[in-house]
Amino acid sequence: MASLALKTFVGLRQTSPESHHSAASFKPISTHRRLRVVAGKFSPKVTGRNLRVAVVGGGPAGGAAAETLAKGGIETFLIERKLDNCKPCGGAIPLCMVGEFDLPLDIIDRRVTKMKMISPSNVAVDIGKTLKPHEYIGMVRREVLDAYLRDRAAESGATVINGLFLKMDMPETSNAPYVLHYTGYNVKTGGAGEKRTLEVDAVIGADGANSRVAKAINAGDYEYAIAFQERIKIPDEKMQYYENLAEMYVGDDVSPDFYGWVFPKCDHVAVGTGTVTHKGDIKKFQSATRLRAQEKILGGKIIRVEAHPIPEHPRPRRLSDRVALVGDAAGYVTKCSGEGIYFAAKSGRMCAEAIVEGSENGKRMVEENDLRKYLERWDKTYWPTYKVLDVLQKVFYRSNPAREAFVEMCADEYVQKMTFDSYLYKRVAPGNPLEDLKLAVNTIGSLVRANALRREMEKLST
Ligand SMILES: Cc1cc2nc3c(=O)[nH]c(=O)nc-3n(C[C@H](O)[C@H](O)[C@H](O)COP(=O)(O)OP(=O)(O)OC[C@H]3O[C@@H](n4cnc5c(N)ncnc54)[C@H](O)[C@@H]3O)c2cc1C
Repeated sequence: MASLALKTFVGLRQTSPESHHSAASFKPISTHRRLRVVAGKFSPKVTGRNLRVAVVGGGPAGGAAAETLAKGGIETFLIERKLDNCKPCGGAIPLCMVGEFDLPLDIIDRRVTKMKMISPSNVAVDIGKTLKPHEYIGMVRREVLDAYLRDRAAESGATVINGLFLKMDMPETSNAPYVLHYTGYNVKTGGAGEKRTLEVDAVIGADGANSRVAKAINAGDYEYAIAFQERIKIPDEKMQYYENLAEMYVGDDVSPDFYGWVFPKCDHVAVGTGTVTHKGDIKKFQSATRLRAQEKILGGKIIRVEAHPIPEHPRPRRLSDRVALVGDAAGYVTKCSGEGIYFAAKSGRMCAEAIVEGSENGKRMVEENDLRKYLERWDKTYWPTYKVLDVLQKVFYRSNPAREAFVEMCADEYVQKMTFDSYLYKRVAPGNPLEDLKLAVNTIGSLVRANALRREMEKLST
């Protein structure tokens, strides 16, 4: 979740109903570069069975992909190495995900309606004043959300395999199968079981940041942040403060390029931070985050410590022949905010839809061009957001004075309204031109003050 205010600006230029992020190396797939010839499909019909697709990884990306495939008439296999996986994650999801993915309300631990943005000098700005009574940020436990989505895929007809994907053999001819190698899970011993193979026509790589599917197609690497999080059980009276409130801390102490957070969970809080540029100092940043929240989490007991990479931008290649990457495997986490759950589920679903459509509900073989439609739609919808977030991160996360200016800006009700609209719904209602102008002037004012302050601080330190 996070730099909500940054998303305001993204939203201002958005016309499509969703949003997202980017990086310098990321080149969108052009939707204009080829002349599209509309004709009947030439790919062969699949006979005696339906198209077979394997989804590797059962997080939000994999669960959503498998459900859509199975509902669309595809013979679907979902391979997940750990069915009780508890992904290290803040677990914040936008309101639109609850509706779009038809999530039952009982899997949402907390409904956050208040967000405190806390500046390097500990100035706290309350965000959330503009929320309507039914609006909130959902807080989920990943073991609950992921299991729910996987179970729903299974109910729709997907075969869920508890196994560790190892590698795959590429097809030698155009319509030959991919052969996936995996180790099954031995229920009796609770350890690795037999080595097995699975033949499929297409593969969706939803196996997260360390994706083996990405390696198999030489998808290339991405820059990543390391995120560190501690789950802390705090006394009940302290927990009341976090009942429906999340906190975000910015400053050089908590992270040179990210933010620190305290998110409420069912019966504890998740305290964490991340960084791309100073990974070796992550524990120091974590201590600083804990220190900043000290009074509010006093008497707390750490019940779990976790760390995981967060992709900073999409991989150089996200598609090869009949294999496509989705979610973190593709690199779809919003820059500077670290939001990835919604985008993972959304990309999984979009990729699966392209396969269902291209295969005419599993009756025909798919080709690279069918899967490419998913990338074209994805990039068209989200690429501008990636770009804008890149720029905004550079403007507001570069120094403590700039962060002070950023927090100051968040106090503006118009900023808050646009921010929440863009975060909660992945769309933005048309802005008010007068308010937009006022916001631009205020932003420039804040930045000028930030720059002046920085110059003064530099003078003091020389
Ligand atoms: C500390 C932290 C906090 C975060 N907080 C938030 C937040 O508050 N909100 C938000 O929106 N995003 C957050 N994110 C980002 C979010 O967690 C990811 O973007 C999201 O989980 C991506 O989903 P995914 O399905 O693509 O991948 P994952 O959730 O990583 O799922 C991949 C799945 O693949 C399985 N797998 C991997 N390899 C194999 C294999 N070889 N064989 C079989 N299975 C395999 C894994 O067990 C896993 O279940 C956070 C990330 C971190 C690290």
